[in-house]
Amino acid sequence: MLSRSAGEFQQGLPFRPVDSDAGIALKSNRPQIIVRERPTELDYYRAARVSARTGEVSMLIVMKPQASQDEVRRVCEKVASMGYRAHPMPGAQRTAIGITGNPGPLEPEEFESLPGVAEAIRVSKPFKLVSREVKSEDSLIHIGPASGGVSIGGKELAIIAGPCAIESREQARAAAAHVRKAGARLFRGGAFKPRTSPYSFQGMGEEGLKILTEIRSEYGLLIVTETIDPENCDLVEKYADVLQVGARNMQNFSLLKRVGRSKLPVLLKRGMSATLDEFLMAAEYVLAEGNYNVILCERGVRTFADHSRNTLDLSVIPAVKRLSHLPIIADPSHGTGRRDNVIPLARAAVAVGADGLIVEVHPDPDRAVSDGYQSLFPEQFETLVEQVTAIGGVLGRTVGHVR
Ligand code: PEP
Ligand code: MN
Repeated sequence: MLSRSAGEFQQGLPFRPVDSDAGIALKSNRPQIIVRERPTELDYYRAARVSARTGEVSMLIVMKPQASQDEVRRVCEKVASMGYRAHPMPGAQRTAIGITGNPGPLEPEEFESLPGVAEAIRVSKPFKLVSREVKSEDSLIHIGPASGGVSIGGKELAIIAGPCAIESREQARAAAAHVRKAGARLFRGGAFKPRTSPYSFQGMGEEGLKILTEIRSEYGLLIVTETIDPENCDLVEKYADVLQVGARNMQNFSLLKRVGRSKLPVLLKRGMSATLDEFLMAAEYVLAEGNYNVILCERGVRTFADHSRNTLDLSVIPAVKRLSHLPIIADPSHGTGRRDNVIPLARAAVAVGADGLIVEVHPDPDRAVSDGYQSLFPEQFETLVEQVTAIGGVLGRTVGHVR
């Protein structure tokens, strides 16, 4: 059993070979047990205990089950040589080593190349339920009726398209007919619009929601529409298939908690100046209330660029994929604010691994009441779908159509 004193744990050094559980398992003639080489609940529990004594454990290095005590010692020495503390935590199958004392983030690659190391995992992230540490496999978010409907986060790319705002029944029907024909299975359109100016069109309200439900029955498209505050959510929930939380509301915590109590999936757009951590923490609010069906959306952030409305930060997509099991889609319409940039950025988004796209399409963009300059003409949307279908194909992804 463990022979180290608490003092040695705290110092982390020197690591003396001990008669650990792992050591006993190695010496015995028992058939080798196959274990997952990721931290277990027990590892996190031990890490939390080390944290309580010595400061936050920022990384867990999980050793391979067959790692020797020499290999464990070498990892501890490496940690010490960097000026940090190593906390070896022997377990029944293999040892995990907690690291404390580092002022900033550590790179897992620094340790993963050492002999005997299975994986190095950051554990001090403030988000938990959204993180891959808690759920390693990708989440598949189902939208619409259990039989039928659409899943986001799997092989199929989700294509959501429609006007910025619902302006009339005729406009919505014309947009729906076009986007359905081109390959969208989900229809977007705001009935409540959070506008920068209080004098701009604020949306048709409940009348717009009713038009959206007609679109669902007539065209078989699922409805994605925005909810702007907790009270408004009571109404939008009655009509929508997906609740959109807009960029301006990404940190509206009472709205996040409200949609967290909804049975509907949530499309959470990244705030205009939100860091990756803030984005994931906003999603954490929704999951913490019990709604695990969150789809993230990169929609561009504010930068010094003056050639486009926003800068679509496509680098956030692989970063989200690394840290979280949630699907992420891209919005090249708001992300660029320019019609001529939408198709190129849509192609790029699919190439970097987006799970889908949300695109503004209007039957007559020049007469749109909002975001006309970034809305595609219907023929352009057809081209977009054709091109992203081809790019998705290279990556083993498909685009489904309404049958
Ligand atoms: C929208 O989708 O029309 C919208 C207002 O988006 P965002 O919240 O990203 O600005
Ligand atoms: Mn818009």
